[in-house]
Amino acid sequence: MSFDMLKDRFEELYQQPANAISIAPGRVNLIGEFTDYNDGFVLPCALEYATRVLYRQREDDKIVVHSMSYPGEKDEFSASEEITKGDSQWGNYIRAMAFVFKRAGFALKGVDLLIESDVPQGSGLSSSAALEVSIGGVFNAIGGFGLSEQRIAVLGQEAENDFMDCQCGIMDQLISAEGEKSHALLIDCENLETEAISIPEDLSIVIVNSNYPRKLVDSEYNQRRIDCEQAASKMGVKTLRGADLDKLAQAKSDMTENEYKRAHHVITENSRVIAATVALKNNDMDALRSLMTGSHVSLRDDFEVTVPATDGLVTICQEALGDRGAVRMTGGGFGGAIVCLCRAEDVDSIKAAVTEKYHAQFDLHADIYVCKAGNGLAVTSF
Ligand code: ADP
Ligand code: MG
Repeated sequence: MSFDMLKDRFEELYQQPANAISIAPGRVNLIGEFTDYNDGFVLPCALEYATRVLYRQREDDKIVVHSMSYPGEKDEFSASEEITKGDSQWGNYIRAMAFVFKRAGFALKGVDLLIESDVPQGSGLSSSAALEVSIGGVFNAIGGFGLSEQRIAVLGQEAENDFMDCQCGIMDQLISAEGEKSHALLIDCENLETEAISIPEDLSIVIVNSNYPRKLVDSEYNQRRIDCEQAASKMGVKTLRGADLDKLAQAKSDMTENEYKRAHHVITENSRVIAATVALKNNDMDALRSLMTGSHVSLRDDFEVTVPATDGLVTICQEALGDRGAVRMTGGGFGGAIVCLCRAEDVDSIKAAVTEKYHAQFDLHADIYVCKAGNGLAVTSF
């Protein structure tokens, strides 16, 4: 939808024009899966798909919100009263941000909000983080709190953890807040330090969503977290960041098979992330392929978060690309998406192979997104 149409829609809804916009993108993780909550390394990039929030401060203390994705539904609550869950499923993300801002001691102001987004929801591109971070950008700007992007990201993670009951790590919100056009971001999740890594001009990022119906995701996700914590404690380290393969071998006899395998994934994945930053800097496709393949195999066999549909998609794309690309699952697993890095001229062969083989093998239709690395949070008045 064009910017002018969106502004018109805002004025229709609120009888006043918007005077500012907050924009935050979705993301894809190139490598470093399930390492964020173990204080490890991740290498995501922000996408050009983004969530835009038009807004205008109100005279009273009401927070009123509409979303172009849910026409006819609005949510409204008072910034000065206790924030609890409401009837609107998506409205709760805005309440979640209000809740964490207030809990952190920031006095919120009333605001009219209109959300519009081209980040597909539930497709593994993290539309929820894009929403949290864009709303955080609004609250920060109208309150004049002067928060850093990092602080807004941490508040977004708290919103998801403590209000939406999803125990995600920091990656999605941090890359949405701090992403840089044409760059991936190496994030050290132990201290949230980042290093922007330039993505070679001739590299295309293709995301293929399996559309596999995700089931039991929360319980499985939480069990993986517990296994990782147990494994760390049996090695005598605070988190798996402090572990290495020697410590793992020494503690193996004290561990359950799953604790050992989960820790083995995280330890080796952290090394692959660091190696991948070098490979990306050098535009070394052979190295990227071997690291991304290694990551996928480890997620399949050690962390056990792939499903036949995502394994199958990876195989289909690997066969289509041969030695001209690198492929692995990305995101939270148990379905979701895969990511391919390849040259622009090979994007069509991915599309053709997925169209020809995926539905025939898995009775599902995949969505394909050809992406570029975009900017993180931006808030502009007009
Ligand atoms: P994802 O993998 O896309 O983050 P989630 O289930 O975590 O999937 O988040 C999707 C939820 O985020 C939606 O169900 C909705 O509540 C909220 N959401 C995302 N984008 C929008 C939007 N444009 N408008 C309103 N709510 C949105
Ligand atoms: Mg999400």
